[in-house]
Amino acid sequence: MATKVLPPKQLQNIRFFVSRSLKTSSSSSSVSTASTAVSPLCLAEKPEPSFQKPPTTIQDHAKPSILDFHDHQKLFSNLPTTKLLHASANLYFGSIGPVVDFGMWVMNSRLMETDNIVRDAMLKTVRRTFFEHFCAGEDVVEAGRCIKKANEAGLRGMLVFAVEYTGHNDACDQNLKGFLDTVHSAMSLPPSSVSSVVVKVTAICPLSLLERASDLLRWQQRDPSFNLPWKHNSFPILSDSSPLYHTLKKPEPLTLQEELDLQLGQERLWKLCEKSVQANIPLTVDAENTTVQPAIDYLTYSAAIKYNKDDNPIVYGTIQTYLKDAKERLLLVCKAAEKMRVPMGFKLVRGAYMLSENKLASSLGYDSPIHNSIQDTHACFNDCASFMLEKIANSSDAVILATHNVESGRLAATKALDLGIGKGNEKLEFAQLYGMSDALSFGLSKAGFQVSKYMPYGPVDKVIHYLLRRAEENRGLLSASSIDGELMRKELKRRLKAAIF
Ligand SMILES: Cc1cc2nc3c(=O)[nH]c(=O)nc-3n(C[C@H](O)[C@H](O)[C@H](O)COP(=O)(O)OP(=O)(O)OC[C@H]3O[C@@H](n4cnc5c(N)ncnc54)[C@H](O)[C@@H]3O)c2cc1C
Repeated sequence: MATKVLPPKQLQNIRFFVSRSLKTSSSSSSVSTASTAVSPLCLAEKPEPSFQKPPTTIQDHAKPSILDFHDHQKLFSNLPTTKLLHASANLYFGSIGPVVDFGMWVMNSRLMETDNIVRDAMLKTVRRTFFEHFCAGEDVVEAGRCIKKANEAGLRGMLVFAVEYTGHNDACDQNLKGFLDTVHSAMSLPPSSVSSVVVKVTAICPLSLLERASDLLRWQQRDPSFNLPWKHNSFPILSDSSPLYHTLKKPEPLTLQEELDLQLGQERLWKLCEKSVQANIPLTVDAENTTVQPAIDYLTYSAAIKYNKDDNPIVYGTIQTYLKDAKERLLLVCKAAEKMRVPMGFKLVRGAYMLSENKLASSLGYDSPIHNSIQDTHACFNDCASFMLEKIANSSDAVILATHNVESGRLAATKALDLGIGKGNEKLEFAQLYGMSDALSFGLSKAGFQVSKYMPYGPVDKVIHYLLRRAEENRGLLSASSIDGELMRKELKRRLKAAIF
């Protein structure tokens, strides 16, 4: 790569971050990095008791492998120095405990609920820091620009209008408009730069209704003779091992109004599916809390039956592999879809609602629905990934492996090649969140796979829930240094030297 002469101000900035951060990184050259979920919000907390340090190190990754993390110059060759500097600075500040805690306190505080100068100042600060690092912009135009940049660097984008948790039909209609605009603008971006558009069902169907429908679906799982007159054709939603503690007594049937509202929610999803079919861009439905997930899966699967045609899975569901019943449910859905000749797409994730899931189960006196150990979660993710890779090798199904875990990425990449799933195969996508695990994204991309960044956009005050989850979900990793931060610092140091000498 040709050496670029850097302007003095940039050089000064690089010197500052490289010299500060190398003080910490030199003492920990074998940083624990099986997981690379790096966030400026998340690097300074105590590890969760159940989280055991992953065994792999950057040195491990330096061994000959499908994923090459050794060559940071090659890895970040598409990232301009300013971007690298910005990301590295964010990671650095995110490693300062009080900064993270203060940021979370601000975003959670009542100050954010009322209109005042303090709130404006807070929003401005959040925008310049957490928001810029984790979000693709405040509107679809900014997000489009961000996707184009990612695309120039060899990556694709999952375009996410980041609204969620809605209480009323009016707000749902408004959100639907936002999602439709997202698909519309995706159509005008460079071909295949958008791998999918993402929707959260809680943004287009009232939350309390999704809870009610989930209760009823769970009761039907308990008692198959329980009639749900509103239920359309769907795949299995729960399995024999699914926890049903959320619904301890027989729920009242939906009122006429609730049935009408559910129908409206379903029709909103259908409109979005129709637009996605028209654009030929997959629609990925995010997974959320188990309180509402049965209804989300029900709506997703019935939409998949309606719109996934001709070997083209347009509607993708999401399976959270931190749940004990994940594999069983995945197998049931795949079997039913195969029987009905419906091509299915799945996004596999570990899951981002661990704290609230544990809290709810424990408050009701039940075991957590989440695997008892992180190793069980890793095993479940890898197992489901392996199952889906075998499926896509022999069918028109598709999978998005959404993970920051290097070991999972490496295992899946190796298995894909063993199965003859060619690099660049449309049915296999790796994905990481925007602002996290760039090293893994570029590593997989350089190895020839299709890789997307999950790119949320929206007004700052609307994406606060998303930003808080990024902070919350990474708490277990906070003591571990990140492969991203370390590699970025090495690359910045190299560029600094190259610019000086
Ligand atoms: C593209 C993309 C889309 C996503 N979409 C969704 C979505 O729709 N719904 C959703 O819920 N999440 C979603 N996520 C978030 C994802 O679930 C988190 O990033 C995930 O929690 C981190 O897992 P990881 O695969 O990156 O692996 P790692 O970084 O290895 O994850 C480890 C984390 O798993 C957690 N964990 C899981 N199980 C256990 C356990 N049994 N004991 C202790 N800790 C445990 C810990 O907090 C730990 O920090 C998405 C992520 C990506 C990249």
